[in-house]
Amino acid sequence: ASDVYKRQDLSYGGNNKDRMKFRLAETYLLLAEARLMQNNAQEMVLVIDFGGQYNQLIARRVRESGVYCEIVSYKHSLEAIKAKNPKGIIFTGGPNSAYLEDSPTIDPEIYTWGVPVLGICYGSQLMMHMLGGHVCVAPEREYGKTVVDLDTTSPMFAGLSEKNVCWMSHNDYIETAAPGFKIVASTPNCPVAAAEDAARKLYCVQFHPEVLHTENGTKMLSNFVYNVCGCAGTWKMDSFVEQTVAELKERIGDGKVLCALSGGVDSSVCAAMLAKAIGKQLTCVFVDHGLLRKNEREEVCAVFGEGGQFDINFICVDARERFYSKLAGVTAPEGKRKIIGEEFIRVFEEEAKKIGAVDYLAQGTIYPDVVESGLGGESATIKSHHNVGGLPDFVDFKEIVEPLRDLFKDEVRQSGRELGLPENLVARQPFPGPGLAIRIIGDVTPEKVAIVQDADAIYREEVDKLPMSERPSQYFAALTNMRSVGVMGDERTYDYAIALRAVTTTDFMTAEVTMLPPATITTAANRIVNEVKHINRVLFDYTTKPPATIEFE
Ligand code: GLN
Repeated sequence: ASDVYKRQDLSYGGNNKDRMKFRLAETYLLLAEARLMQNNAQEMVLVIDFGGQYNQLIARRVRESGVYCEIVSYKHSLEAIKAKNPKGIIFTGGPNSAYLEDSPTIDPEIYTWGVPVLGICYGSQLMMHMLGGHVCVAPEREYGKTVVDLDTTSPMFAGLSEKNVCWMSHNDYIETAAPGFKIVASTPNCPVAAAEDAARKLYCVQFHPEVLHTENGTKMLSNFVYNVCGCAGTWKMDSFVEQTVAELKERIGDGKVLCALSGGVDSSVCAAMLAKAIGKQLTCVFVDHGLLRKNEREEVCAVFGEGGQFDINFICVDARERFYSKLAGVTAPEGKRKIIGEEFIRVFEEEAKKIGAVDYLAQGTIYPDVVESGLGGESATIKSHHNVGGLPDFVDFKEIVEPLRDLFKDEVRQSGRELGLPENLVARQPFPGPGLAIRIIGDVTPEKVAIVQDADAIYREEVDKLPMSERPSQYFAALTNMRSVGVMGDERTYDYAIALRAVTTTDFMTAEVTMLPPATITTAANRIVNEVKHINRVLFDYTTKPPATIEFE
């Protein structure tokens, strides 16, 4: 790595910004290579993405069953796929039709190379089409829950009943299976709902086992990885934490690491991991921009600060006034976001300058931030960590360290638990980088922040009385900029309306409105108007995403 930096220092002749960008790109490349080597040792199943909507779900389900799984675009060469040394391959669904000329395809050697392949939906149609079956437009397309007849002698369906509700989503279908294949599932509209060629270890399902609407879908995938691929199941969060801590120790040596701690799940787990590995060599900078939820700063300081769980250097910057004065009078959502992002970087840089040169900058990047998309650009899309809002230009560091880069969110939470972080931190809802500023419509003032903080705290307290399984994925209060007339103690009031939101989602790309028990909403509403000054009306947001977004701005 240091050779690369030296080369680069010469050619950019001191242009700090360009040099940093180049360093970053190079670092990612080196990391990717290193990861490739590392993956060769780790037992893994590879998902080949053909543009399916549920590609990440497939990988999550496989990992839940104890086998490490990564997603790569179908555009990779067979050599690159082989280099990953997978124990099994899974083709995802996709929007195209397998029988059309320009549709995504794959090197046919994938079927003879000896590693088991499971095709899902488009993946199943592609496999059949390539191997001599007949795929065409279905006379009756299927969408939604469908009862499928299973042949339970198939290793895929071992231990299941003969009728199983499966999630279907297709316009095309496999009219006849390819030679050598045995049909192991069907529906009245779909003669080949699943087929297998046990000798060649090729399997395909028209439905989506990765979607939770498919009963026993996770069992089917785990059947594939254990019964067909012969995996041992070595992917466990406790061993991941232990191994990563050891790797970080070795890689960092006696170097210094700087970490921007937001208080969110990812950066907290990242910091905890590093704290375990290198203790006092880690400095965490936490910026209170005055747009945090109620008591959030205190909670973060209690865990990471003086007298907390970890022996690290912890700096809490009170930048509230700075942010409030920059935001004064600004009403445009994008304007607010931009100001906050930029100011955050400035504050962080100032703190970093006080610390001086460090060896590593730690980031809580997680797998969904870096995963390739099948139909996307030719190369891997690399996003900087969205919560940090871009990388600081003037922080003097040599390399980036991202200990959570391979993990899905639920795995990050699990790692946090392994590291002993408190449940309220580990189970925390997603919270946007610009914080409450985008939950206050219009201009932001310290008074409005206090109003939304108090209302939000009451609402969350009430929802948190529900059992875990009934709680929405995300629930919060937002301050509308609307004022209306009310009456309190026989007096006219003219005050703000607060909006409550509750959504259920698995991926945060789409979201449904959560129907909370009426008592929860009315109690919360009652308490809010009684306990929070300047609120005289509570509204509930009944909009799905799309067309609305989860956040208000
Ligand atoms: N586009 C194909 C079809 O309509 C596959 C759909 C899918 O993979 N979900 O049948």
